[in-house]
Amino acid sequence: MQMQKGGRSNPGGFLIEARRLDKSPAPSRVLSFEEITLKPTPESGQKQASRCTDCGVPFCQNACPLQNNIPDWLALSADGDLREAWKTASLTSTMPEICGRICPQDRLCEGACTLQQSGWDGVTIGSVEAWIADKAFENGWVEPIRPLAERGQSVAIVGAGPAGLAAADRLRSEGYSVTLYDRHDRAGGLLMYGIPGFKLEKHIVQRRIDRLVEGGVQFVLNTSVGTDISMDALRTKHDAVLLAMGVYQARRLSIPGCGPDDALPALDYLIAQNKRDLGDEVQADTAKGKNVVVVGGGDTAMDCVRTAIRQGATRVTCLYRRDRANMPGSAREVQNAEEEGVIFEWLAAPKALMSKGETVNAVRAQRMALSDAGAGGRREIVPVADSDFDVAADLVIEALGFEPENFAEQMDASLEMSRWNTVQVARGGFKTSLEGVFAAGDAVRGASLVVWAVRDGQDAAAEIDRYLRARTEEAAA
Ligand SMILES: Cc1cc2nc3c(=O)[nH]c(=O)nc-3n(C[C@H](O)[C@H](O)[C@H](O)COP(=O)(O)OP(=O)(O)OC[C@H]3O[C@@H](n4cnc5c(N)ncnc54)[C@H](O)[C@@H]3O)c2cc1C
Ligand code: SF4
Repeated sequence: MQMQKGGRSNPGGFLIEARRLDKSPAPSRVLSFEEITLKPTPESGQKQASRCTDCGVPFCQNACPLQNNIPDWLALSADGDLREAWKTASLTSTMPEICGRICPQDRLCEGACTLQQSGWDGVTIGSVEAWIADKAFENGWVEPIRPLAERGQSVAIVGAGPAGLAAADRLRSEGYSVTLYDRHDRAGGLLMYGIPGFKLEKHIVQRRIDRLVEGGVQFVLNTSVGTDISMDALRTKHDAVLLAMGVYQARRLSIPGCGPDDALPALDYLIAQNKRDLGDEVQADTAKGKNVVVVGGGDTAMDCVRTAIRQGATRVTCLYRRDRANMPGSAREVQNAEEEGVIFEWLAAPKALMSKGETVNAVRAQRMALSDAGAGGRREIVPVADSDFDVAADLVIEALGFEPENFAEQMDASLEMSRWNTVQVARGGFKTSLEGVFAAGDAVRGASLVVWAVRDGQDAAAEIDRYLRARTEEAAA
């Protein structure tokens, strides 16, 4: 079939057999921590992009938190004009190659794709986005950050995760001097130390950080704001401050038999493996040869079970108290985990940790059932009587979600908090209760998604720009 411009006159093109871009087969992919999605060839990438039917109402774009202009860059890619596709993709996003890899597309752009809604597999928008951006880096199309003029004002950003990095990119491009403070020894936040390499290889994150460094952004690492440097010092030294420090207080299991060291918080486990992948020497034990039980049903739980498989665990079980249809994690990640050999115990909640001597050797679990929907439509989970069962466990990992740390205590008592203990910002914006201090990303939203952190970082940068320009005008008046 003749490829037409943008696939827009491509009748029946969406039916081509290459509906989905491939991933490596489970038996080989579990042998390493490399990304599992295979890179498109020029032919398969173009073919995939040309499946877009240009349906007229861009549901995909509306479902993307960045409002990416998906139909246009799909059309350009289908036409083979990857450079122009890249320019279009980078207008709305500071990290297309990262979002393209790790967005839960089934819940966002791809889930809304008209093809998906009509019973065909949707266009694999994320992998086309990552492909365009990778080509841009490979071919030197990614422009360095070169502000037109220096503005003579500086911004401190607390937290070098996606929200902080996205804001730094936009602010530095506007000519502000930008310093990112992070308590870790590497920048990237959860992109570097939370999300495993099989979803996002670390050199992809480092490439973004290097571009910021080359553009003049300064990184002050191993520095915890509130401990190593105070908020007052930051506010004195800089003209504005952006708080983008994420949420890190892990929820813990509270069941009989579970002491503080009997179960491992998910992030400790994932950070250790990410450090190993980065070549660091790490003392922590791995899951090799162990029966592993992961408690939780979100994306963090999926990252833990799949990491344990790759470390050579004997058996990996995921306990989740709701059913498959009601789990918070991406359906795509559950499928990947199942293909890799993870056993799912749906509708099962941990009841106690069982020990032999001092050592935990099993999780006692109880079956749950979902009640009929109540007035609000919500189905409660109720324990099933006499349904206990034991799952052998040498390593129990808790992936129960995260709460914010006590930011006010950590940083400044007058920083107003929301009822969820996240940083309170003004409605429709990013201003906190402290003059010249803004906040964005998970620290405001609670645990969320990378794409929302990027959106917040970009929008917060625009608000800080307006604030600093207004201050300059006031000073000049
Ligand atoms: C295991 C895991 C897997 C995930 N997988 C996905 C996924 O596949 N797709 C997706 O979209 N989302 C995923 N998420 C969610 C996503 O990673 C977060 O929503 C996103 O990283 C939030 O970005 P952020 O910049 O707000 O915060 P973070 O990425 O958390 O970055 C905050 C930074 O602030 C630093 N910091 C904190 N306190 C201080 C302080 N006092 N001083 C200095 N620095 C400080 C931290 O060290 C960190 O580097 C995952 C989360 C986890 C935990
Ligand atoms: S940023 Fe995420 S939601 Fe938006 S187009 Fe890319 S993959 Fe889809």
